[in-house]
Amino acid sequence: MKIVTIPCLQDNFAYLLICKKTKEAAVVDPSEQAPVRKAVEQEGVKLTTILNTHHHWDHVGGNKELKALYPELTIYGHDSDRGRIPEQTEFLKNGDGVRFGEQSGSFLHNPGHTSGAITYVFGKTAFTGDTLFAGGCGRLFEGTPAQMYDSLNFNIGRLPDETELYFGHEYTEANLRFALTVEPGNAEIQKKLAAVTALRSSGAFSTPTTIAVERQTNPFLRCYSAEIHTTLKSKDPNHDLSEKNVFRTLRELKNHF
Ligand SMILES: [Zn+2]
Repeated sequence: MKIVTIPCLQDNFAYLLICKKTKEAAVVDPSEQAPVRKAVEQEGVKLTTILNTHHHWDHVGGNKELKALYPELTIYGHDSDRGRIPEQTEFLKNGDGVRFGEQSGSFLHNPGHTSGAITYVFGKTAFTGDTLFAGGCGRLFEGTPAQMYDSLNFNIGRLPDETELYFGHEYTEANLRFALTVEPGNAEIQKKLAAVTALRSSGAFSTPTTIAVERQTNPFLRCYSAEIHTTLKSKDPNHDLSEKNVFRTLRELKNHF
């Protein structure tokens, strides 16, 4: 499978997934029609499928126009997003698979950012939408901190270390700057921030990341970190250091960063 990153809107990423055998393609989270269509034409592939990670407008904004251009499109989303994802044709429930061309994948239901948020998994590649970002995670619009903690740490976090994670927004620099405020001594975050800053100033993107890198640099997967605990204790000596409570405080701090 070949993956083409398609920058959309201000800082969104759509991804074109190409089955090399059949030249059929799926697009993850088409925010808008035009850049997706351009990529499809440039790659000379047949777009058969849309994979929506959640219902937010900046992830489904191209659905209607793409469906008009390619009437046979199959459009996947979570079952609980019925009525919220335009033109949805497939309503994923536990155990369901995802197919296009000769590629077959699965999905993880990871509520928190929204109640119907999912991650698509094809082998050692995953598309996390707005649940996991490099160095951070999405805001909690429809879920509790405990749900998001589980989604990140026990759901996406169970994927093998080498899994490549393709995320929904180019937020990496700001995320890592926040990460350093709570874990200033983490050399891996310092190194990654320097690398991403250089990458961005050359016009390149920071997607994808890997599970291994996120375990080292993403504070929302590091709620056990002694240095993060020290930071939180310095703000509130009575802070409850259970991981879910650490997660809740980190998310609140990030909301105001
Ligand atoms: Zn979103």
